[in-house]
Amino acid sequence: MHEMALAEGIRGIVEDQARAQSFDRVTRLRLEIGAFAGVEKPALTFAFDVVMRGSPAEGADLVIIDLPGRAFCADCIEEKEIAGRLDPCPDCGSGRMMPSGGDDMRIKDMEVV
Ligand SMILES: [Zn+2]
Repeated sequence: MHEMALAEGIRGIVEDQARAQSFDRVTRLRLEIGAFAGVEKPALTFAFDVVMRGSPAEGADLVIIDLPGRAFCADCIEEKEIAGRLDPCPDCGSGRMMPSGGDDMRIKDMEVV
């Protein structure tokens, strides 16, 4: 399961940060997920709870922030927010769109004690 691997990646980052900044526990972790990242949020939340056991983020609240998809419209010559990767431009209807963001996932911040 893809989400399990993502959660393991998060655990690695949490453990590195805990060592580097000497905190013991993460109480809340905010994660930004792009609309095109293909992440199933319920699956990720489940994987997070399982994978964080025994780590500084065990029992931490996982807060997921949705980031819109973005694409550059070749006709408007402007970046637009789009809901689907293959959507036409919401302003001019052009299909000449080049996705420019929304397929990434990153930790926004952590609350630590
Ligand atoms: Zn356009």
